Amino acid sequence: ELLISQIAAGEVIERPASVVKELIENSLDAGCTHLDIAIEQGGIKRIRVRDDGCGIPHDQLALALTRHATSKVTDLADLEAVTTLGFRGEALPSIAAVSRLTLVSRVPDPAGEGMAWSLAVSGGELSEGPRPAAHPVGTSVEVCDLFYNTPARRKFLRTPRTEFEQIEQTIRRLLLAHPAVACELRHDGRLIQRLAVADHPESLRMRLEQLLGAAFAEQSLRVESVAGELALSGWVLPPALARSQPDQQFFYVNGRLVRDRLLAHAIRQAFADCLHHSRHPAYVLFLELSPDQVDVNVHPAKYEVRFRASRQVHDFIRQALVRRLAQGRL
Ligand code: ADP
Ligand code: MG
Repeated sequence: ELLISQIAAGEVIERPASVVKELIENSLDAGCTHLDIAIEQGGIKRIRVRDDGCGIPHDQLALALTRHATSKVTDLADLEAVTTLGFRGEALPSIAAVSRLTLVSRVPDPAGEGMAWSLAVSGGELSEGPRPAAHPVGTSVEVCDLFYNTPARRKFLRTPRTEFEQIEQTIRRLLLAHPAVACELRHDGRLIQRLAVADHPESLRMRLEQLLGAAFAEQSLRVESVAGELALSGWVLPPALARSQPDQQFFYVNGRLVRDRLLAHAIRQAFADCLHHSRHPAYVLFLELSPDQVDVNVHPAKYEVRFRASRQVHDFIRQALVRRLAQGRL
């Protein structure tokens, strides 16, 4: 069972940034409004994500670390309409199998007499708890010494600096799509980023600036387009201004970041239609459509999707962007 978890971990958990991704996704699924992230040595030594979400009941703490024990999908029909970021019940057990993990959680209770409970796991084996702990409502997951028991994998880790850059990119991807969630990020004790709740246009611009830089925040065009069941929103930088930075491409389908050839092609075509051949268009775009029109049940570490009506999706995006780029600044 431990070996299976270690193998599964190899598929999902490649580096510290993959741990950060899974932990933040769990916090978002738990409905958090505030994230507190502390990293040490690029996440190789320590990663801690604290949220103010719904918490995990005492009797389900150990279960959360058991393979395929997700609380998010209860029957097969649910899989057709997944709205949470996680649904496999694989991430926490996988991380626990290749690190020293501590889980502390507390659920809200009206009487205010409840307490937090903590559980520690080393290399997939329970090492401590559950025992009472001090923690506000919500959950903290601390992951230390990633890959300490799988030296072959540890060897592939890069420098703390590189690993931290990957973590920042992961946070950027997730927090661009969750403006209502505030976030603090510390690295080796130093405050790196503090994102406030972005609940109006000004604070949204501010978040864009913090995550993507002033040029993008100031010069991007707001996109908002609806056709039938398809809705596209977000920002695109006019092609003439786009920097050659492949990192400035963020496309979300129903809130989930994807990297998809069909979508990339539609965007490239839109730019070409406007007589620009920008190699690296810069955009943050959100496509919303009925969950049964898209298949997200693909490998968790890849970012692929399959659309039922792919031609229609392609043409909608292309036309929406062409129209917006032609308008320019409003
Ligand atoms: P999945 O997200 O696919 O369900 P995970 O292994 O990531 O599986 O998490 C297992 C379970 O642990 C989740 O289904 C959820 O019930 C619980 N859980 C994990 N992290 C949190 C959190 N931050 N807040 C509340 N519950 C959590
Ligand atoms: Mg998860």
